[in-house]
Amino acid sequence: MSYYDYIIIGSGIAGLYTALLAKEQGSVLILTKGSIDDCNTKYAQGGIAAAISKNDSPELHFKDTIAAGDGLCDEEAVRILVNEAPARITDLVKLGVPFDTLDGQIALAMEAAHSIPRILHAGGDATGEHIEITLSNKVRDSRIQVLEDCLATEIVIEKGTVTGIKALDCRTGSIEEFECHFLILATGGAGQLFKLNTNSDIATGDGIALAFNTGAEIVDMEFFQFHPTALRLPGVTPFLISEAVRGEGGVLRNVEGYRFMPDYAPQSDLAPRDIVARSIVYEMGKTGSDRVFIDITHLPPRTITTRFPHIYRFCLDHGLDITKGLIPVAPAAHYMMGGIKTNNWGETNIAGLFAAGETACTGVHGANRLASNSMIEVLAFGKRIMERTRKKAKTRAPITDKGVEVHHSLSQRQVPKAVPAPSLSALQQLHWDKVGIIRNKESLTEAANILAAWQKSLPQPTDRPSYELNNLVLTGRLVTEAALLREESRGAHFRSDFPQSLAQWQHHIVFTSKW
Ligand SMILES: Cc1cc2nc3c(=O)[nH]c(=O)nc-3n(C[C@H](O)[C@H](O)[C@H](O)COP(=O)(O)OP(=O)(O)OC[C@H]3O[C@@H](n4cnc5c(N)ncnc54)[C@H](O)[C@@H]3O)c2cc1C
Repeated sequence: MSYYDYIIIGSGIAGLYTALLAKEQGSVLILTKGSIDDCNTKYAQGGIAAAISKNDSPELHFKDTIAAGDGLCDEEAVRILVNEAPARITDLVKLGVPFDTLDGQIALAMEAAHSIPRILHAGGDATGEHIEITLSNKVRDSRIQVLEDCLATEIVIEKGTVTGIKALDCRTGSIEEFECHFLILATGGAGQLFKLNTNSDIATGDGIALAFNTGAEIVDMEFFQFHPTALRLPGVTPFLISEAVRGEGGVLRNVEGYRFMPDYAPQSDLAPRDIVARSIVYEMGKTGSDRVFIDITHLPPRTITTRFPHIYRFCLDHGLDITKGLIPVAPAAHYMMGGIKTNNWGETNIAGLFAAGETACTGVHGANRLASNSMIEVLAFGKRIMERTRKKAKTRAPITDKGVEVHHSLSQRQVPKAVPAPSLSALQQLHWDKVGIIRNKESLTEAANILAAWQKSLPQPTDRPSYELNNLVLTGRLVTEAALLREESRGAHFRSDFPQSLAQWQHHIVFTSKW
């Protein structure tokens, strides 16, 4: 059996960046279930946030992040993020990420709920693609071993400590086992839970399921961010229309042409994502439509084509010239705020097991992620994982104080009389209808019962789709049960039966299988 100092699961920004640092400290293997560049990272458009301008400060970035997180951010983790962000940007520049410049300086854009322009971008609106390609080329040129089409299926543990990973070779169907000193889960999010989502098809909650089944703590799962503006064209999968489009001056109008956001929030079109997403849902309800529009027709065409070349081209390819016509949009599931609970060094409660990126919950996002804080979080905490593991000591994480926590295990549920057959499309429809932007006890209970029944009835997985469906069902259970428990509305979690935020709910919901 092959042995590595580090095994990293996933090859988005979290997997690649940590691998490039880890190779300085030992042998590294990356396992990834598709090809190296299959990930959410390459779809990131808007950019990456860091207080690098002379008018900005980590303190201001801190305030904006805390405000968006709606009472549940871990303040120490946010301090780390905002203070270390500028140095991590320097790392990316050194690695060769070609950030856009203006008059010889890195260009900075405005995005919703930031109080100042602080978003670095590359290729206009192709930031994630530039980061992914730059990092994956560096990995290819290094001595890091990469196994593609290799899906991690089970974490191997001995006496409470990680010793390796089992993985499915998706080409042959055989299960291989690899040994390691440190295991880093960098498996991304779970947007595929929902019928309408902006995510790549890899986003199936695998890391959450792997970690939960091993006894790791999973936290804040009820907080799933819905991006307000995904392209809504018949027959076209939701394609993100970046917040930066509104940051550049785009305004939302309902199907009657009315500019509605000033009625809902003082920040108008640049209010936090949860507020804009719910406002859009209300407007669609009022007007009986499945869409609203972003209007950027007042911007000079050249601004649109140079600042958003990717969005412009995508829409044009689908028959829409956004320099002349309104952009039809609707909300779609986008980002998982919760995840595998880590301390400020990326450690989980299992010795030798670390989590980085969207699958991790470091505590910086709280109940709602500030736009463009995700990729910078990966870099800030990925770097800290490497600092922690430099001396090769495997510790059982002294999990830090993330505010008050209440621990739960997944409850038994009554099997409903009629349970639809489990499938990816049935699961996505269920989450969209019952666990979506606006939830309530009745809808969540129905979903929770069906998911529990599916979990019992699903056969032993044998191939990538069946492993992914199992992982989605478990991840969906964690999202739904947490959403049922939280009888209030906060950040991205909105309950129509409990529409207010309540002081007694200013705590985190944590699930463990072995609690
Ligand atoms: C459309 C879109 C736009 C976005 N825009 C921005 C933005 O402008 N700024 C920002 O900060 N964030 C943005 N985000 C969020 C951000 O892109 C992601 O949170 C971030 O890229 C996640 O990186 P990651 O490395 O954790 O996961 P990913 O990039 O998703 O990579 C996960 C990797 O894990 C692999 N994997 C998963 N499960 C397994 C398994 N079982 N075995 C082996 N491999 C596995 C996958 O194949 C993949 O390689 C956006 C997201 C989307 C979808």
